Amino acid sequence: MAISFSLKGKTAIITGANTGLGQGLCLGMAEAGANIVGVSRSDDSETERKAKALGAEYFSVKADLQSTEPIAGIIEKTIEKFGTLDILVNNAGIIRREDSINFSEKDWDDVMNVNLKTVFFFCQAAAKQFMKQGNGGKIINIASMLSFQGGIRVPSYTSSKSGLMGLTKLLACEWAKDNINVNGIAPGYMDTNNTEALRNDPDRSAEILGRIPADRWGLPEDIAGPAVFLASSASDYVNGYTLAVDGGWLAR
Ligand code: NAD
Repeated sequence: MAISFSLKGKTAIITGANTGLGQGLCLGMAEAGANIVGVSRSDDSETERKAKALGAEYFSVKADLQSTEPIAGIIEKTIEKFGTLDILVNNAGIIRREDSINFSEKDWDDVMNVNLKTVFFFCQAAAKQFMKQGNGGKIINIASMLSFQGGIRVPSYTSSKSGLMGLTKLLACEWAKDNINVNGIAPGYMDTNNTEALRNDPDRSAEILGRIPADRWGLPEDIAGPAVFLASSASDYVNGYTLAVDGGWLAR
C-alpha cells in the first residue's frame, strides 16, 4: 500500500482563514495540493495571495460564524465552485478573559457559539455532504491545551475547548463506519492574536515560555504538517484523537 500525504484534487473548507493558525492551515493544505475554501469574517487577501503563490485554487467566502446561519450557504458555494467537499477544518475561535467571579453571560454565549455550537453544526453539515458523496471525508477540529487543562480566567474558552475534544470523540465514533475521520489538533502556546495579551504581559509570558520544552512559542506553520497528515489518506485509521502540537508543553 502506498502511503499518501497528498491532498491533490481534494477540497478543504478552513474557517478563520484570514490570519494566525487559519492562514498556516490554508497554506499547508495548499502546498499539499488541496483547493482551499477560506471562510473569513474579515479581509483574507493576504491568505489568498500566499495560497495562490503555492499554485492552489483559493475561493474566499465571507461569513460570521457567531451563528449557524451561514453554514448551508458555505457548503453550497463550495460544491458549486469545486464539485466536492473532502475536508473541513474548524479553526475559527475566540477567547474572552475575565475572573470567573465576574464573567458575563455575553462572554459565555459568544465564545460557546463560535467555538462549539457553530462547530457542531458545521461538522453535521459537512458529514451530510460526505455521506451524499459516498467517499468519506476528514474533519479536523482545532482544540487547545485547555481541552486538557483548566487554565485561568477563561471559563467559557476552557468549557468550549474541553467540550470540543469530547465532541470530536463522539462524532468519530458515530461516523467512522462512513469513512469519515473526525480528529482534533490541540495547539500549544502559539504566536497569534489569540495570545497577544499573554505575550504582552511580561510575567505570564516568561512563565509560559519557561515551561515550553521547545523553548519557543509555536508558529502557524507548526500545525500545517499535522493538519495535512490528518486530512490525508495516511490517517485513514486515526479516529477521535486530539493531537497536541505544543513543543512538549503537555509532556512536561
Ligand atoms: P486569531 O485570533 O488570530 O484567529 C482567530 C480566527 O477566528 C480569525 O480568523 C477570526 O477572524 C476567526 N473568527 C473569530 N470569530 C469569528 C466569527 N464570528 N466568524 C468568523 N470567523 C471568526 O487566533 P488563532 O490563534 O489563529 O486561533 C485559531 C484557533 O486556534 C482558535 O480556535 C483558537 O482558539 C485556537 N488556538 C489558538 C492557540 C494559540 O496559542 N494561538 C492555542 C490553542 C488553540
